[in-house]
Amino acid sequence: MHLARYPRRFIAHLPTPFERMDRLTKELNGPEIWIKRDDCTGLSTGGNKTRKLEFLMAEAELQGANMVITQGATQSNHARQTAAFSAKLGMDCHILLEDRTGSNNANYNNNGNVLLDHLHGATTEKRPGGLDMNAEMEAVAEKFRADGKNVYTIPGGGSNPTGALGYVNCAFELLAQANDQGLKLDHIVHATGSAGTQAGLIVGLKAMNAQIPLLGIGVRAPKAKQEENVYNLACATAEKLGCAGVVQREDVVANTDYVGEGYGIPTESGIAAIQTFAELESILLDPVYSAKGAAGFIDLIRKGRFKKGERVVFLHTGGSAALFGYDAAFDHKACWV
Ligand SMILES: *Cc1c(COP(=O)(O)O)cnc(C)c1O
Repeated sequence: MHLARYPRRFIAHLPTPFERMDRLTKELNGPEIWIKRDDCTGLSTGGNKTRKLEFLMAEAELQGANMVITQGATQSNHARQTAAFSAKLGMDCHILLEDRTGSNNANYNNNGNVLLDHLHGATTEKRPGGLDMNAEMEAVAEKFRADGKNVYTIPGGGSNPTGALGYVNCAFELLAQANDQGLKLDHIVHATGSAGTQAGLIVGLKAMNAQIPLLGIGVRAPKAKQEENVYNLACATAEKLGCAGVVQREDVVANTDYVGEGYGIPTESGIAAIQTFAELESILLDPVYSAKGAAGFIDLIRKGRFKKGERVVFLHTGGSAALFGYDAAFDHKACWV
């Protein structure tokens, strides 16, 4: 497997830092906890979509695109990183934002990632929740094409075999960091949504025969559906890379016990995880993804799923810009003295 065979637009700040979290380790009194800082990929406050977009946007450029269209939830980190990447390459960017939460909150609808989408020059339009958003996006793309635009469409989350290459690369990068420091890793945990992150990682880990189990903490779909989505994308990604068959169904594990009421709706355990990471490690999580991932990670440590003597890695997928769309989820009263 040789990733340099695939077009790539280098823009991310890589390798992202790989750091030990001493205060969280002490607090939980379980395994040694490390963090892979993909919140620090450098593009417009960072996040995991930047790695995927390096491959996707290179493909867009090769196809002569002058416009990129994508879709996501109102506070989509993927949308924001796509808007920023498009600006950097001088392409127009149009985004369909799905109202999955029904929130009327002004910050939710205009601040955080939405503010940044607009600062990067993207145009946006809304859709009610529950539509086939990739189909909606293709219909809009056809309209722009009829107007003479050369449009490249990116599926939600940038999760297709091209985008997943970014996380195959991340698996190699993380293994190299661990190997260089002589650190044997026992488990990797991260938030999983549109599946590209987990699919890419599992292909990279399996292709290297790393024998490190990977756990995705779900933020939306039920377990069976989430695992099926990840497995299907992992198989397609492996096939693209010429290593079909490298991923087995049982390699794909998702825990969806921390979704709460639904996608984009903050949970109590997620808010607590945001506070814990901020107060102990000065690391910012987001309520939609990384907080639910961290809530699962912390809970599973407390339950003894990951134990003393083990070394576990939390892959931080980013999203802190969404905090400014979710200020209403936090009670600051106790802090004003
Ligand atoms: C998109 C996203 C995820 C989920 O990654 P997928 O590849 O969509 O599964 C996790 N965390 C953050 C902050 C994200 O923006």
